[in-house]
Amino acid sequence: MTTDLSAQDRRHVWHPFTQAGTAPPPIVIERAEGARLHAADGRVFLDLVSSWWVNLHGHAHPAIAEAIAAQARKLEQVIFADFTHEPAVRLATRLAEELPGALNKVFYSDNGSTAVEVALKMALQYWDNKGQGQRTRYIAFEGGYHGDTVGAMSAGASSGYFRAWERLLFPVHFAPFPATWDGDEEAAAKEQAALDAVKAILRAHPGEFAGFIIEPLVQGASGMRICRPGFLRALAELAREEGALLIFDEVMTGFGRTGPTFACQRAGVEPDLICLSKGISGGFLPLSVTVASDEIHDAFLGRDLDRAFLHGHSYTANPLGCAAGLASLDLTLSESCRRRRQEIEDLHRGRIKGLAGHGRASRLRVMGTIAALDVTGGESGYAAAVGPKLKAFFHERGLLLRPLGNVVYLLPPYCVSDDDLHRAWDVIGQALDDL
Ligand SMILES: *Cc1c(COP(=O)(O)O)cnc(C)c1O
Repeated sequence: MTTDLSAQDRRHVWHPFTQAGTAPPPIVIERAEGARLHAADGRVFLDLVSSWWVNLHGHAHPAIAEAIAAQARKLEQVIFADFTHEPAVRLATRLAEELPGALNKVFYSDNGSTAVEVALKMALQYWDNKGQGQRTRYIAFEGGYHGDTVGAMSAGASSGYFRAWERLLFPVHFAPFPATWDGDEEAAAKEQAALDAVKAILRAHPGEFAGFIIEPLVQGASGMRICRPGFLRALAELAREEGALLIFDEVMTGFGRTGPTFACQRAGVEPDLICLSKGISGGFLPLSVTVASDEIHDAFLGRDLDRAFLHGHSYTANPLGCAAGLASLDLTLSESCRRRRQEIEDLHRGRIKGLAGHGRASRLRVMGTIAALDVTGGESGYAAAVGPKLKAFFHERGLLLRPLGNVVYLLPPYCVSDDDLHRAWDVIGQALDDL
């Protein structure tokens, strides 16, 4: 059975982010529960990356599974222009309640890249609708990753994944991201340099910026690079002075990853647009939202169809996804889940301290439920040779960990047990000793 599946997979399935010429055959997963994945060959993997950062409360969580099943028996999908439905309205209402200030208008789509495309498109048209069509420029940050569609790639061009399509991308201005870590004495200087770079970009083209886009507090794909909240507050100030919209890409940081429900809350910053996906459905179904302030939304009102936001997808606001979103949000907002996120952060902090003096570990960092370190003594970057070796080491020991180049990180579902987390840290320690 397993060998059949593997053979057919090789024949007919094209996997993402994979060089099939060298990659080992993918592992067939049959079922999963909590933080554990059960492979068809009997192996069990502890999912410490929340299956690419989407799962929050564990696999096959009964409350979310039930909500989806009940919704599927009632209304599975309906066109979302001219029509609406209860799960979409309720989820939008609850998100608007949880999000800060004027973030009240929820635009649905179905993946993180698209949520970003929507934000970039909204920003441009917002200014056009306001009679400021000269505002066409965007500022983004080095190392930022915003997804794989063309606009999202343009805003993430410096991440280095997109060489094959560079000719397609539109120009975006990039400023340094002041990545920092425990005990980093250069943090303030890096922040100042980044802010100075933003100011210099603004000075060169005053009044021409549509928006700034940033992953707040943690740049995920470029290696769990963390910045301090004060930097985001200073950046928000610069955006306001220029008059540009501030777009927070919280596709990864949303729904409790950094502790509070949203990273913007931890940073104390209210963006004009926020992009949410990954954890939004608890990891069950593809869903995303771009939430805009009332002011942005209202600039699209009028009598002209041209003034409206002419964008949509076949599965916009899919009722099953929204039902999953509501069930997952109940869990995320519960007192026990909040407490658990704090406990995970505390455990990370305790364990990462134990690696502080290790000769192969540097740049130790924790932000909420995310912990990361750089493995030193070899290449760095996404293609670092140590990455695949570490991954194999972890797989052999039943851990699903997927280093980003030489960066080892933990981003577990919130249901993970202390014992399981301690085991993960033990194995990371062993990997550092053995390699
Ligand atoms: C994953 C990610 C995206 C893209 O989301 P997809 O659902 O994979 O398209 C965008 N921004 C950030 C910050 C992400 O982590």
